[in-house]
Amino acid sequence: MDYFFSKIKKTPTIKYTFATMVELNQEIKFLPGVGPKKAELFAKELKIFTVEDLLYYFPYKYLDRTKFYTVAEITEKEQYIQAKGIIRNFQLRGQGRKQFLTAVFSDETGKIDLLWFKGISFIQKNITSGKVYVILGKASRYGGKINIVHPEAEEIAKFQEKISTALAPSYNTSERMKRGYLNSKTIGRIMQATFKAIPSVTPETLPAYLIKELKLMPLGKALRNIHFPENDLTLRTARYRIIFEELFYVQLNLLRQKNYRKVTFRGYAFEKVGNYFNDFYDNHLPFELTNAQKRVIKEIREDLATGKQCNRLLQGDVGSGKTLVAMMVMLIAVGNNFQAALMAPTEILAIQHFETLTEMLAGLGLNIRLLTGSSKTKYRRELHEELQNGTVDILIGTHALIEDVVVFKNLGIVIIDEQHRFGVAQRAKMWKKNKLPPHIIVMTATPIPRTLSMTVYGDLDVSVIDELPPGRKHVTTAHRYDGQRLPVFKFMKGEIAKGRQVYIVYPLIEESEHFEYKDLEDGLESISRAFPPPQYAISVLHGRMKPAEKRKSMDLFVKGTTQIMVATTVIEVGVNVPNATIMIIESADRFGLSQLHQLRGRVGRGADQSYCILMTSFKLSADGRKRIKIMTQTNDGFKISEEDMKLRGPGDIEGTQQSGIPFDLKAANIVRDAEIMQHGRNIANDILEKDPDLSLPKNHILVARMKKMMPSSKNWSPVS
Ligand code: ADP
Ligand code: MG
Repeated sequence: MDYFFSKIKKTPTIKYTFATMVELNQEIKFLPGVGPKKAELFAKELKIFTVEDLLYYFPYKYLDRTKFYTVAEITEKEQYIQAKGIIRNFQLRGQGRKQFLTAVFSDETGKIDLLWFKGISFIQKNITSGKVYVILGKASRYGGKINIVHPEAEEIAKFQEKISTALAPSYNTSERMKRGYLNSKTIGRIMQATFKAIPSVTPETLPAYLIKELKLMPLGKALRNIHFPENDLTLRTARYRIIFEELFYVQLNLLRQKNYRKVTFRGYAFEKVGNYFNDFYDNHLPFELTNAQKRVIKEIREDLATGKQCNRLLQGDVGSGKTLVAMMVMLIAVGNNFQAALMAPTEILAIQHFETLTEMLAGLGLNIRLLTGSSKTKYRRELHEELQNGTVDILIGTHALIEDVVVFKNLGIVIIDEQHRFGVAQRAKMWKKNKLPPHIIVMTATPIPRTLSMTVYGDLDVSVIDELPPGRKHVTTAHRYDGQRLPVFKFMKGEIAKGRQVYIVYPLIEESEHFEYKDLEDGLESISRAFPPPQYAISVLHGRMKPAEKRKSMDLFVKGTTQIMVATTVIEVGVNVPNATIMIIESADRFGLSQLHQLRGRVGRGADQSYCILMTSFKLSADGRKRIKIMTQTNDGFKISEEDMKLRGPGDIEGTQQSGIPFDLKAANIVRDAEIMQHGRNIANDILEKDPDLSLPKNHILVARMKKMMPSSKNWSPVS
């Protein structure tokens, strides 16, 4: 039998002793009012195991228990209603399982019905008809009448003696918890009891000097006030303390990793820019670099010369010319007698990079090779050998590059394009491809709000290309309903007559495997009718085609043999066909904002005016309509990413799944609390500057806390 219960049976006083002495790291079943059943619910549903876990389960809102509505004031619009009045006239209605209980609640201003569908006998036993109660619940309107279903009810005398705080906490609970009688109210009671049972001084989790300097509320007081606020002001101060602490530790951890890496990981020093770079720059560069391109090349170049491993994010909106930068950086590596690798998330993009680079670097006498999932065995074998004996200078490919069989003679740099499509683990594997870790540059066009980049990329150095090549016109974006397809077709014909090309993109229908490509297939049929041969030719591209078919289809479009490319989102990232000027996105409301932005980025890559047409049916969800509107209003990737985050919350933004936050945030929200996070980052930076390995006694508490919060990152594991 359970230790705790076997003890109480013999010596009941132990219960009391335990209850007054629980430690923060004790299991919650030792708490008054919990017991093994509820403890199991806490563990299963909320991952709450210890007293400390429980204290960090914060209310999601507070009810103002000093505010009472009169019955006449009650509407269904309020979040909740608290009212004082008499409950009487209980009636059982309905039959059998559909039976329910009603009662009338009244005060001097009027009366409403109360309804119970569950726990009927409990209510009948515990509520005395004719007495005054305080009720709490959400009003709803049914058949023109206002009523309250399943209100909480408490006798007025009991209510008055119990409520010690005006703001009563509400806790989120799951259905399963409610069924196990672990509702918000019960949690509140357990929380009350817990605060009585723990030592009054909660051990601090921040150094004393920080609490003093930043005038933070001590932890014990903050925890109490977050659950049972004395008033609005203490609640705010308490929340600030907890939020600050969470974000501060996120940043301290990231910066610590970044510093640690800089100190520990030696990297290859690329001492010169080398002949290849100079030759290309002087003789082969097809256009003047933008100032932004020049600046980031310089930043990267300096980084590569330090002898430390470079871990840098190269951020630049779609079409800003990241490929060229990547290429020139690889030339620096080759010029220093190293090999370079460029990794892309799709085969189409890898092939395109391969072709672009092969063409641009044609005069330099380099051995550039391609490796993808569909490379033939014989070719692979040969390639593996050439990589090992060093005859390959630049390798371009998909995640096939990561595989262990791919061994380099002397890999100096890895560039990862559209890095948000790769996982951290995948990228980390590239670290092992040489004796010292090669330099890593990750590129992304998915702009993410600054607040997010502080965490997602908080441990990387960042270079930003904030300028588009000259002559680019903004892509004109319009929304059209499906019924307006004919004019759209007509517009396409006009552009095609001018020699331009068109993408038409369909969403994948993910719910059903069979119909995955249904939209595309249906669409293709009508497009083929509207654009018949021999005047028009159409390319098709989707994920289920064989690699060779894909390549052929893409080639025909790149060469201009086909004028229309009907595709799924396989063309979403990276694809570069400057002559394509129209992007038509079908069922555009089914795409997320960053996807729409990426797709739109496929046009507007040359000097010609380009267009993006978002097609939808008349029926649009509110969010879908908002997304379409944002797209027609702005071309600015950063603005779009911010709107995206507002609509979806930070967790869902593409590329942020590996959010850089190694623990669940309990109180902080990285969007709402961006400023606090910046503050936390600055403070963390100061601390690490003065005490890089946190070895001063006053900072020991920081290390202890981080180890506890983030046990998995204790090995200082590399994040690239
Ligand atoms: P992204 O940053 O989206 O990967 P790309 O590297 O594909 O963009 O470049 C988009 C287009 O811009 C390509 O056709 C490329 O050749 C062209 N480009 C890049 N840099 C310049 C420049 N400095 N001047 C003019 N065109 C450029
Ligand atoms: Mg690109």
